[in-house]
Order: sequence, then structure tokens, then C-alpha cells
Amino acid sequence: MAIVTKQSTEGGNNIPPTPPSLPGPATNCRPKGLFMMNNGLVTKGNSCVSTATRDMWDNLFDGGFRADVTVRTDNGGIIYAHAAVLGMASPVLRGMLKPAKGFDRKRSISVSGIQHDAVRVFIRFLYSSCYEEEEMKELDLPLLLLSHAYVVPQLKRTCEQQLEDGLLTLENVVDVFQLSLLCDAPRLALISHRMILRNFKAISVTEGWNAMKKSHPALEKEIVESMIYEENVRKEKLRESNERKIYLLLYGAMEALVHICRDGCRTIGPCDKDFKENQKPCTYAACKGIELLVRHFAGCKLRVPGGCIHCKRMWQLLELHARLCADSSLCRVPLCGNFKEKMKKQGKKDEIKWKMLVKKILSTKRIGGALVSLTSTDES
Ligand SMILES: [Zn+2]
Ligand SMILES: [Zn+2]
Ligand SMILES: [Zn+2]
Repeated sequence: MAIVTKQSTEGGNNIPPTPPSLPGPATNCRPKGLFMMNNGLVTKGNSCVSTATRDMWDNLFDGGFRADVTVRTDNGGIIYAHAAVLGMASPVLRGMLKPAKGFDRKRSISVSGIQHDAVRVFIRFLYSSCYEEEEMKELDLPLLLLSHAYVVPQLKRTCEQQLEDGLLTLENVVDVFQLSLLCDAPRLALISHRMILRNFKAISVTEGWNAMKKSHPALEKEIVESMIYEENVRKEKLRESNERKIYLLLYGAMEALVHICRDGCRTIGPCDKDFKENQKPCTYAACKGIELLVRHFAGCKLRVPGGCIHCKRMWQLLELHARLCADSSLCRVPLCGNFKEKMKKQGKKDEIKWKMLVKKILSTKRIGGALVSLTSTDES
């Protein structure tokens, strides 16, 4: 790409600068990807500013007509510019370009540590608010740094937007994250931080990550810690959700048990009445399973606690019922009263364990009248 450069003519005369060499194709022609900033909006093709005006500003930059500032970049690169334009576009440059005294009206500023092309695109933007799409793709990060350092918010917003809209990749995200912290771009910092956490495995093997590990070990440590924290939060949420499912299932089993003993269902009649075959269809999801368990319990030869696994489960459900049951005298669930008696003689440790389970089941269901709905009464 041809950069408009020429020999410095500084040295204290009033002769206007010699015209620069013919601009190369990249600066002279308008490739298809030309973007133009207009009131903070990026527009393509159309803009309130006429093309002629825009071209004039671009030509002024490209041609360097009566340029009075030399911008020196790394490796001896030179860009010619106009103090008035730079000063109007950037308060920082205005401060750097104090009026020159005497005959020597030429001034010079140096921009080091940034590649020449990025400085050129940056200064061109100060003239015409234009940039080439391809150049932005390649130079977004240095342009972000320059626009922050020289306080050109319009360009800074554009650079941030471009990254958000697709220039942010797994390869550059670590650099972008560090740069966004440096350039006070909180939104971009948040977006890149999230991207790092989401793709940690892939990102932790990139060059950018290794470079950050060496240059900013504290930042690396912070990211790893926040990753571990997020992972723990995720695991905890999963554990809670699984636990909630179990409590809801237990609650459903309790409802079904009361329902079977009170109303009877499918193959079991209410404990004190005959089984009616023309029962209305049951709405308890756990009914079938509990019914099979009750039938097994009634016929099993090993029906002792610690006997067969089905009976063991039945014993546990019966005990849980007793703890949730509000009034055993009205209850039709077998052994409800017996368990209530047993509870009174129970050790402290067991009591705490059961109470915790009951509390969790009820709070999961979040029903104030849970105890009532689980009580077998004659009312319904
Ligand atoms: Zn049923
Ligand atoms: Zn059994
Ligand atoms: Zn009961």
C-alpha cells in the first residue's frame, strides 16, 4: 500500500511544501469497502455529507496541500497533516500542537509503538471520517488504542462496534480484553471476558493467552479464578435443580400415597371401602408407581425394615408421610400413628435429619397448605 510520504522540509523557511509524490491506488481510489462515519453512524454509500466534500477532505489528507505538521511513526515513516484539522479533531493533538513561533511554522509529532499504517488510517479518519473496511479489519486494535489515547470518541465507538459485530475472535479476544481495560471500554471488556470464560479451553492455548500469562500474570490469575467461580456457580445450580426435582418427586409420591389410601385407585380400594371399578381417572402422576409399591408391600414375605429394597422404600415413604401428616387421627395411611409415636422416642440426630428433609420438600413445593393437602381426611 502506498503511503503518502515525502522528505521532511522542516528547517525554517516559508516555502510551501513541495507536492507529495502521486498517491498510490489505495489512498487515491475509493475501493468498494469504503465506510463513512456520519453522526456516529456508520453508513455505506449514503451520507448527509456530499461525496465531493468527503473527497475534498480525503484529497487534502492524501495530497498534503500546505501541510504544516509532520507525524513521525516507527521505522522512519512520515505522514503530513494540518495542525488545524488535527487540533479540531482531537483535543490531545490540539494540546500537542501549540502555535509555532517565528518563521518556522512546521511542527512535528511522533507516534511510536504503533504501526505506520494504523497511524495513517487514524489521521485520515480525522480528516474525512472515512476508513476502508479491509483496513479496519486489520488495524482495529491499534485504531482503538489511538482513538482512546487521542480522544476521538467517534472512531473509538466504531472500533468497539466492529469488534462486537464480528472482528472479535478466539485468537484476538485476550488482546481485546486487555486493550479494553487499558482503553476504558467496559462493554467490550465484559463481552471479551465472557467470551474467554465460555471458550476457556480453546483460548488458553492461544498465543495471546500465553503472552498475557507472561506480561500480566495477575490478570491471568483473575480470569482463571473467575472461571472457577462461574464453573462452581453452574455446578451448584445444577445440583440445586436436581435436588428440587427429587423433592418434587417425593412430594408427588406423598400425595399419591394419601390419595390411594383415602380414595383408592385403579386396583386398590380405599382401606375401609370396597374397590370401585368405575372410578374417575386419576390425576396423580406418581399414583401408578406408588400403587405397585403398596401392592408389593402387602404381599412381600420379607416385609421387614432392611428386607427387600421395595419394602425398604415403602417404609421410608410411610415414615416420611407421618412426618408430613398434620393429623394422624384422621389419616388413613397405614402405620401413620405408629410412626408418630416412634418419632417421639427418636434421637436428636435423626430428628434434625428428617426435619430438614420435610422442610426442603415443603419449601420446594412452596405451598402454604402443603400439610393439609397431604393429610388424609374425610372431607374430600
Ligand atoms: Zn390414583
Ligand atoms: Zn418386599
Ligand atoms: Zn397420616
